[in-house]
Amino acid sequence: MEFELPKLPYEYKALEPFIDEKTMQIHHDKHHQAYVDRLNAAIAEKKEVKGKSIEELLAQLDQVPSEIRTAVRNNGGGHYNHSLYWEFMTPNSKDTPQGKLSEAITKNFGSFEAFQKRFSNAAATQFGSGWTWLVENAGKLEVVSTSNQDSPLSEGKTPILCIDVWEHSYYLKFQNRRPEYIENWWNVVNWKKVEEQYKKSL
Ligand code: MN
Repeated sequence: MEFELPKLPYEYKALEPFIDEKTMQIHHDKHHQAYVDRLNAAIAEKKEVKGKSIEELLAQLDQVPSEIRTAVRNNGGGHYNHSLYWEFMTPNSKDTPQGKLSEAITKNFGSFEAFQKRFSNAAATQFGSGWTWLVENAGKLEVVSTSNQDSPLSEGKTPILCIDVWEHSYYLKFQNRRPEYIENWWNVVNWKKVEEQYKKSL
């Protein structure tokens, strides 16, 4: 087995009442596991991609054999994006980012509130399944959305923060009310992890 489902860094119920236990369990154990399984099935016996990290695969999709490229894009993206998503949440969230990240957010968006508003709006209006991201791109911070399981890595951008807006990430608790899920999600953002991710991008 090449890739493995990472363990959640907290219990399924740890993000209650903002993100519910049942959603976390199914999302992690079923959805994420399925991406890992399908990714492993796609790359099995493909020596061209043997030993490559998930980041390398996604950043250089054109070097993945064409017959498995879509499977790697979808399932490799699914594996990578979800791995970040779990890490970017915590039951011990602080209110706001600190330090260099805080400065960069103010510089690029005007204020933390303006950034939050832009990010929430992008997440709420993403049409269909996908993700919304804070990324580092050529020295600047940007809010972008991607469809399906596409990753900013494939566009040469470094993920700093992400939210999953596939219906499976909120439908059990919030049904069609995606903006309510986004509003709740802000309460569990792991700013410490996001700050580390930003520092790595510098
Ligand atoms: Mn998901």
